[in-house]
Amino acid sequence: METILSIKNLNKNFGKIHAVNNLSFDIKKGNVYGILGPNGSGKSTTLGIILNVVNKTSGEFSWFDGSMSTHEALKKVGAIIERPNFYPYMTAVQNLQLICKIKGVSYDNIEEKLKTVNLYERRNSKFRTYSLGMKQRLAIASALLNNPEILILDEPTNGLDPQGIHEIRQIIKNIAQNGTTILLASHLLDEVEKVCSHVVVIRNGIKLYSGRVDEMTASNGFFELKSENSSKLIETLQSHNSIGTIKEENELLIAQLNTEMSSVEINKFLFEKGIVLSHLVKRKPSLEQQFLDLTNNNN
Ligand code: ADP
Ligand code: MG
Repeated sequence: METILSIKNLNKNFGKIHAVNNLSFDIKKGNVYGILGPNGSGKSTTLGIILNVVNKTSGEFSWFDGSMSTHEALKKVGAIIERPNFYPYMTAVQNLQLICKIKGVSYDNIEEKLKTVNLYERRNSKFRTYSLGMKQRLAIASALLNNPEILILDEPTNGLDPQGIHEIRQIIKNIAQNGTTILLASHLLDEVEKVCSHVVVIRNGIKLYSGRVDEMTASNGFFELKSENSSKLIETLQSHNSIGTIKEENELLIAQLNTEMSSVEINKFLFEKGIVLSHLVKRKPSLEQQFLDLTNNNN
């Protein structure tokens, strides 16, 4: 799979603040990547560095397998990293025409890109009449005018109402489906879960996890169990290789799994040891819980 961007051991210091700390990850063509982390974790700084608007302290990044200069490569990148600035008294079409002139691309794409972001019907309205969500969508259209290989967005839904958030996420998904690689920064787990196929989780500039969103932690889950003789149950569970830590919570035993095991297997095992269960449920921690565990436990 073609590598769009490769980041290796990237560092950025702002005085004493180590904003980006030895960060490495690759962006492959066709995927949707999220950089996920709480506010101040170094997401915008990372995007700034790869877009040549922030100077790195050390480390490397290379676009398109290093086959061209960063200056050339950035012509194949569309990015929105700050609030878009358009002329309020000009229409959407006029604003995009101006951007085409600045970027040196033809007007031919304007109509298609306005359709992509659902603004075609409002193309002749003045920018100042637009809602915040429409303004953000116009920014996305402007970033797409040069048919970029990759679209980079920093907190694309910040400040929008639920309807506006939904529209932007849908548009991002549509753009990705048409083959454009996407890299977005977000502090919202929910957003990354809904929009992205891959995630890089960072905190204090340090990478905690990178990989597929659906494999964010390799948890085997846990059993909730209850039986009349609790101490015998604990003792018997401890004798099984697949069972990890056991704790009591609200009169239930919570037994973590070291390896995959079904409810049927554990039930059979305990029954053969003379234990009858009054409660047995297998659970997996929610992605939210896994994200919190990830960002709290490390370092
Ligand atoms: P995020 O986008 O994840 O919220 P940022 O990349 O904006 O995080 O910031 C990471 C850290 O770097 C924060 O501690 C922030 O205060 C600091 N920082 C960012 N930009 C500057 C700057 N221009 N000067 C000094 N510190 C900065
Ligand atoms: Mg930011």
